[in-house]
Amino acid sequence: MPQRRFPISAKLTVATLVPLAIAIVCCWLVGVTVLASRMTTQAQEKVRTDLNAAQALFQSELNHIRDVVRFTAVIPTMVAAFAQSDRTLLDGQLSPLRQSEQFDIFTAIDAKGTVLARSTNPLSFGDDYARDALISRALKGEVATGTVILSSVAMQREGTPLVERAAIKLLQTPHARPRHDAVEQAGMFLLTAAPVKDGRGNLLGVLLGGILLNNNNALVDRIKETLFEGQSAVDEDRGSATIFLGDVRIATNVQDNDGNRAIGTRMADDVYDRVLLKRERLIGRAFVVKDWNFAGYEPILSQQGVPIGALYVGLREKPFTSLKLNIGILFSVILLFGAAMGTISSQILSQRLAKPIKELEALVRQVAAGKRGLTSPITTRDEIGDLATEFNQMSAALARQDQEIGELTRGLEQKVAERTTELAEKNQQLEKTREELVRAEKLAAVGELAAGVAHEINNPMAIIRGNAELLQMAFPQGHENLEEIDAIATQVQRVERIVANLLRFARRERLQITLVRPATILDEILTTIVHQEPLEAITVARTFPLDLPLIPGDAELLRQVFTNLILNAIQAMPDGGTLTLACRAVPEQGQCRISVSDTGNGILPEHRSQLFNPFFTTKPTGTGLGLSVSYGIVNDHGGNIQVESIPGAGATFVVLLPLAAGL
Ligand code: ADP
Repeated sequence: MPQRRFPISAKLTVATLVPLAIAIVCCWLVGVTVLASRMTTQAQEKVRTDLNAAQALFQSELNHIRDVVRFTAVIPTMVAAFAQSDRTLLDGQLSPLRQSEQFDIFTAIDAKGTVLARSTNPLSFGDDYARDALISRALKGEVATGTVILSSVAMQREGTPLVERAAIKLLQTPHARPRHDAVEQAGMFLLTAAPVKDGRGNLLGVLLGGILLNNNNALVDRIKETLFEGQSAVDEDRGSATIFLGDVRIATNVQDNDGNRAIGTRMADDVYDRVLLKRERLIGRAFVVKDWNFAGYEPILSQQGVPIGALYVGLREKPFTSLKLNIGILFSVILLFGAAMGTISSQILSQRLAKPIKELEALVRQVAAGKRGLTSPITTRDEIGDLATEFNQMSAALARQDQEIGELTRGLEQKVAERTTELAEKNQQLEKTREELVRAEKLAAVGELAAGVAHEINNPMAIIRGNAELLQMAFPQGHENLEEIDAIATQVQRVERIVANLLRFARRERLQITLVRPATILDEILTTIVHQEPLEAITVARTFPLDLPLIPGDAELLRQVFTNLILNAIQAMPDGGTLTLACRAVPEQGQCRISVSDTGNGILPEHRSQLFNPFFTTKPTGTGLGLSVSYGIVNDHGGNIQVESIPGAGATFVVLLPLAAGL
């Protein structure tokens, strides 16, 4: 399986992007987490301060009521009405004030705790309030203020409209603690009981006044407006405030799913546990009506310090969540943009780095393919520049080495050619020597045999020739038998000639060496040969130098050699031609070169190797001894015979004989 390529550009990109990706993820996680926790802390801190502020506002509302009631209690007309215990008078005092201060309860009680007059319900009076916590404190001369729960029975005394206004239909609330009643009948009031005294400080009675908080959203809306400035009362985008009676929302600007105030919904069971049962202030996350909030609950305590409800402020978590989301998205976009820029820049960088490497790679390929003398133009001052320099040096070294190898190869080839030529020459010489050896052996064997035969034939031939001569002499001229006897004599002569040749061939004769001129011998042969062969149709050409060379040799035997060659040449040109005789000295080789050329039919290639073999002849009356005898004679002189022939165009026999020493 081929290994997957992992180019440098990819490696660089990965090397850049991996740390970048890690940094991005870390930044994102840290940034978003830190931001989220910071926002949560901030939100909770805000809720804490908001709750404090709400509490202060709640308290200031109480103070306001206290001040109104307290100051009303010292108005002289009011004091006078109390002093007279006149119900009509009291009512006349209380009613306008109740309306102007929008009080839900404004009641005059005498010094024994019995109701004198009720501005909300003038017909209801005479009931005893002496045991009421607030009233009893006021009866002792103290201005008592507090949050108070009144049952529907108690409120009934204040009039039916109050009961109706206080009644809150409980709504189904998930996570709230179970409750079996369907309507909250009780009412939560902010009340102040102030003593009314005469000029001497004697207690005349108690003035009780306050407001009902059930279905009264003025306070919570004010809290909201104060805390979340710029928001309308019903705008629940950011925060909200609620007053709980027990666990029931009796005044709130928290909205339900339909956008109405969620009055009648209830707090979650776990919040109830902590705030109302354990009397804890609760700052944390809470599910309020329909979504999550950063919430703060402060228990509202009764005069006896018993939790009777709670004050709530909350910040909706949703804007924070969307802010967190938006920040997260912004972070992601910035980081992704950074990553994209990182990718692009690493791509550009890696491509810039890879480009010269690719160029070098292409050059290396060309070098591998055998191209030489290449140089890289890269001159950057970095590792790639170093690589290019090394490449250039390597390329130059390779070119040099190639040249050297080429020269060596050429020298080697020349030497091989020279050696081959030498070897061929040596082989030729060897072959020649071998042929000469074979021929010499053959000649020796044939010569021995011929000598034996010649010796045996000579004596009988001498007897036959003698007797034939006797017979010639015995018969008279013109005798009819004389013709046969002459034939016998002629044939005997022929046999003797053959025998003589054989004996010569067997080299029985010793060389009679004198200094001879081969050219002179050739001329003598030409003058005598005319008698043996017809030369009419033959043109004779002689090319002899003026200073005819001298050689040491047996004149008679050499004459025999040249005669043979000239006769053969003439016989090779039965239809005429040119006989060329040449003789010259070749001092540099220490030889005399004698050549006999004709323009006859030449020698067939298949005959060439047999020419000097004894008895090889192509002529009907030939003996085949001429050339073999000549060869032996020349050889005895330390010379050599060579043949050059072009079939159909003639032959040249060259005799090479050693020149006389010193000549
Ligand atoms: P012979 O002349 O009796 O045949 P040689 O030994 O002189 O014997 O010659 C041998 C053979 O060589 C001849 O028969 C002839 O075929 C051949 N030969 C010799 N000289 C020539 C020549 N000049 N041209 C062609 N053939 C030649």
